[in-house]
This record gives sequence, structure tokens and C-alpha cells, in this order.
Amino acid sequence: MNGYFDANATTPLHPAARAAWLSAPWHNPSSLYREAAVARELLEDCRERLAAMISCEPDEIIFLSGATEANNAVIEHFSRRSLTIAVSSLEHPSVHEPARGALSFPAGTDGIADCAALQRLLAEKKPALVSLMAANNETGVLQPWRDALAFCRAAGAAFHCDAAQWLGKLPAAGLGECDFLTGSAHKFGGPKGAGFLKVNAARAPFRWLRGGPQEDRRRAGTENLPGIAAMVAALETAESGLTNRSAWEASRTAFESAIKSAIPGVRIVAEQSPRLWNTVLLIMPEHANVKWLARLSRAGFQVSTGSACSSGGGASEVLAAMGLPDDSLRRVLRVSSLREHSPEDWSALTEAFAAVHASLAADASR
Ligand code: PMP
Repeated sequence: MNGYFDANATTPLHPAARAAWLSAPWHNPSSLYREAAVARELLEDCRERLAAMISCEPDEIIFLSGATEANNAVIEHFSRRSLTIAVSSLEHPSVHEPARGALSFPAGTDGIADCAALQRLLAEKKPALVSLMAANNETGVLQPWRDALAFCRAAGAAFHCDAAQWLGKLPAAGLGECDFLTGSAHKFGGPKGAGFLKVNAARAPFRWLRGGPQEDRRRAGTENLPGIAAMVAALETAESGLTNRSAWEASRTAFESAIKSAIPGVRIVAEQSPRLWNTVLLIMPEHANVKWLARLSRAGFQVSTGSACSSGGGASEVLAAMGLPDDSLRRVLRVSSLREHSPEDWSALTEAFAAVHASLAADASR
């Protein structure tokens, strides 16, 4: 039985990624001897394969350490030049923290960013950069990034999309049309500490970390070649299995019905919105989410109280942005599955929820 239902926080390393990691040369791709040329060749091969998956040019891809770094790099690129930035109210802290003080456009109670508000903002404030994620990490709600991209194109603004949660769960093709695109390996079966940023080569010259000439002088530091090779292998593997996603979604939907009958009063955030097939954000009818989480954990099931990044302190800003009442914010639990989960794993999770519900009720009545 697989009790790991926190895939939006991170995923286990896929065997294909592990194999790619182990077989990658350890030499420095920038060195000048023959072995390094082999490393360099693999690095450029990875760049080409990734570019083909997301539909962009290989030289538009910068390898770096993950989505946090990619998001910081994009925001800094614009804020350093004092250009106006607009970010959706749903963004991950790695976008909204570096963009503190930037313009923001709201989301509805359905968890979807408000594109009409974005259009007004583009017309009135003429931001140089707009950032909207592809899929929200907490609710799983898919965002209208294609529309936002078109509106930004028409208005002459650059468009950044954080696709950390979309990649590996939905087809990557077309995402590379965004001017800036963020990806993180550990969200789709790759290793921690590897990621990429696609930058539009036609926009202002991009310079992030300064030092050596790696990544065409855009991001200094010896490339994490084993991590990069593993990331690309993981995404290729993930992409190749996506045709099964309606079956995975059916298991998730069955769980939603089952938990609603097992625990009266449980609510599902943005239930009617298009969502990632693996994500359910529950609002429990009673008891703090941390109590549910601890008891589920003791029973062998790992879920989360929202995003890993907000689990340390405070309630979710994303849910507050959706207008969820304060008193519900501490009752949210996120369940996010892997494609490996069977209908039996989901049933076992429902049973564990029901058992925790009974034990919390028994304690409360003591
Ligand atoms: N953006 C989103 C949407 C995420 O879900 C996460 C991970 N929680 C990040 C950025 C940060 O990713 P990383 O761990 O690769 O820095």
C-alpha cells in the first residue's frame, strides 16, 4: 500500500531518472579534455530534448537549481531595471516574495485568476512583466495561462509562467511559448536541486548568477549534469505515460465522493474548476488540520496542510486570496497523488480518514 499523498510537495526519484543520474559523466562540461567534451555533449543533448518537449529553442533554456531560483531570477531581471511587474494573487512565495510591492491581479472563489482584471491592469498600468502560474500547488486549479499569454502579447508585456506543478502531470507542449517558463525536476520524478528556466532570447539579455561563463553567461556555476540528465529523463518518462490520466482522475473523483459520504460536512475547494488530476484540497468540517495530519501520519498516510512552503507558519495566502473565510483556513488538508496510486490505495486513504474522524470525535467527547 502506498500512503504517500503529498506529490505536490515532492515526488520520489523515478528509476529512469536514477539510471540517467548514475550514468552521467562526472567531468566538468566546461573543461577542455576529451572526457569533458562527452559531458558537454550530454548537457547540450539534454537541452535539445527538453526544448523539444516544451516547444522552444534549446538556447532559450537555462539550467539551474529549481523553481525557487527560476522564479527569483525572472522577477529580479525586471525589478533590477525598475520595470513594472504584475503577479497573480495565487503565486507561490518564490514569486510573490521577490515581487513584494508589485502590482497584483486577483482570483475568484473558483481559484481561477481573473483575466478580465489582468486585461484592465495591462491597459491601465502597462506592466513590463506579468506572472501567472500554470496550475496552483495548493488547489490544483488550472490557470488560464494561454489567455494571459495572448493578452500580454497584445499589450507588449512579457509573460512568465511557473509550471512547476503542471509539468509531468499534463502535456508540456506549448508551454515554451511563454516568454519565461519555470520548471522543477523534483515535482515530476526528477531529483531535488535541478530545474530550468526558459527565457525568450529576443528579450533583453538575461544575466542571473555572475561568475563563470556557464549557460551562455546567463547563470554562472558548474552545471549539475547528473541532475539535469535525470530531470530530462524523468520528464520524458512522465510525458510518455500521460495518456492514462483520465483513469488517474477517475480514482481521485471516486475518492472525493467517498470522503464526502464518510465525513459529512467535508468540502472540496474549487470542486467545479478544472484541476490537476492528482489534487484535492479538503476543508474538514471540524478539528485543526494539524491534528488530522498527525493522526493520518501515524496511520501511514502522508498529506499536507497546504503547500510545504506555508506549512511552517500561518495560513495559506492562496486560500485567503480566493476569499475563503479565516476560520476554514486552518482546517484545510491537501491530498496530492502519484500516478502509481491504485484505486485500493485511494480506498485505504478514505478508510484512514474515516478512522481518524472517529478517533477525533471520541477524544472530543471525552
Ligand atoms: N512554484 C510552485 C508552483 C511550487 O509548487 C513550488 C514547490 N512547492 C515551487 C515553485 C518551488 O519549487 P522548488 O522546490 O523547485 O524551489
